[in-house]
Amino acid sequence: MLKTTVFSQIIRGEILADILYQDQYITAFRDVSPKAPIHILIVPNIQISTLNDVLKSDTYMLGRMVMTAISIAKNEGIAESGYRLIMNCNKDGGQEVYHIHLHLLGGRPLGAILDR
Ligand code: AMP
Repeated sequence: MLKTTVFSQIIRGEILADILYQDQYITAFRDVSPKAPIHILIVPNIQISTLNDVLKSDTYMLGRMVMTAISIAKNEGIAESGYRLIMNCNKDGGQEVYHIHLHLLGGRPLGAILDR
């Protein structure tokens, strides 16, 4: 059985978060340690540890994550100025929480995709 994550606890309402959107598939909330003026995480309600564990049957949910990120970007007023969507996988990808999530970042020029 998977070890529960802080994101599962947020989804279940056991830990407080600034939740912007929730439906039967996904939950979106503000990152507790924002790396940009707008930093929102879009997370599947079921715990999937890494992108390597995604199944074909998760395709709809993954599309919903992206569609929701786009919709939130519009609501947050950053759609036209621009934003970045990121998913980190495993150690070299910089993944810290092992419950897949899509980062929505914006509100300032974000620069090159990688510093080095
Ligand atoms: P990653 O490095 O891709 O796994 O990103 C994990 C993200 O989760 C980081 O940006 C953290 O700031 C964020 N995070 C960790 N704990 C919380 C929390 N309790 N509420 C909101 N965001 C969190």
